[in-house]
Amino acid sequence: MNERQAKCPFCRQFMTGWRSRYPAKACDQCDRPLFLMPSIFKRDHLAILSALDIAKVLMLPIVTGATISFGLGGLTPSEFAAVVASALLMWGLIDVWDGTAGLKTGIDRVKKQVQKGGKARKTSVAKTIFGFSSVLLGALGLLLII
Ligand SMILES: [Zn+2]
Repeated sequence: MNERQAKCPFCRQFMTGWRSRYPAKACDQCDRPLFLMPSIFKRDHLAILSALDIAKVLMLPIVTGATISFGLGGLTPSEFAAVVASALLMWGLIDVWDGTAGLKTGIDRVKKQVQKGGKARKTSVAKTIFGFSSVLLGALGLLLII
């Protein structure tokens, strides 16, 4: 990784190097969790990834896989409901984390658009509320199933 070109994948701001001996840390600017991963394309090159984005992307194949197995009869309705409820819970936690970090730093991102200041705070409030509702719904769902 070129230290001078270290850029946060979330807020797209340049960082003054990684400055941590651990492969994971929060961004100095936007406070989102980041981690280092060896690049597949370049040797001795480390890529910085946004943990929240990766977590969201990883949830998709899990939910899709569960839906397909349910459709093929591999999962019982309550097992399928448990997967959906856990996904909702996880997704909610990610949104709450994202939202509270946005409230703290005033930096937010919707899709590829980075927002700052008042607009970012409004989106962050919405994300936090939406996230909490998903967590509640997911937790409630799990309680009803188990
Ligand atoms: Zn950042």
